[in-house]
Amino acid sequence: MNDPRDLYQQLILDHNRSPKNRRVMEDADSHAEGFNPLCGDRITVSIKLDNDVVTDVAFQGSGCAISTASASLMTESLKGKTLAEAQALFARFRAMVMGEAASACEDGPALGKLEVFSGVCAFPARVKCATLAWHTVKAAIERRDEVVTTE
Ligand code: ZN
Repeated sequence: MNDPRDLYQQLILDHNRSPKNRRVMEDADSHAEGFNPLCGDRITVSIKLDNDVVTDVAFQGSGCAISTASASLMTESLKGKTLAEAQALFARFRAMVMGEAASACEDGPALGKLEVFSGVCAFPARVKCATLAWHTVKAAIERRDEVVTTE
């Protein structure tokens, strides 16, 4: 029987090797920068909105495999979501990687592929790598100008 953790590991490596939506977005409605000093991950996330629907998300930056794969999967997950759905997804994702009971936010949207990061809760130092892109997109949505730091 295959261990799902092997599959998850593989998906993270795949997204690190060829990330989705890693590009410049010329006509972004908003963008924000994030920095995780613990690991050295740096990211810029750009978003495009149509009223309260996320129509496009892209990122640039450099970081470890976890932060890059997380940004890649995040951009895929957020497209087409409303801002409320995006917030709920982040809440669920954060609870998962922190190893908290998901029951606290059970009515949120399904995590789907984001579940590949469920193993991160065993490595507390990597939680910030996994959540950096999410904190940064949140800042972009809220149009905050300061650089987001995970510290
Ligand atoms: Zn990292």
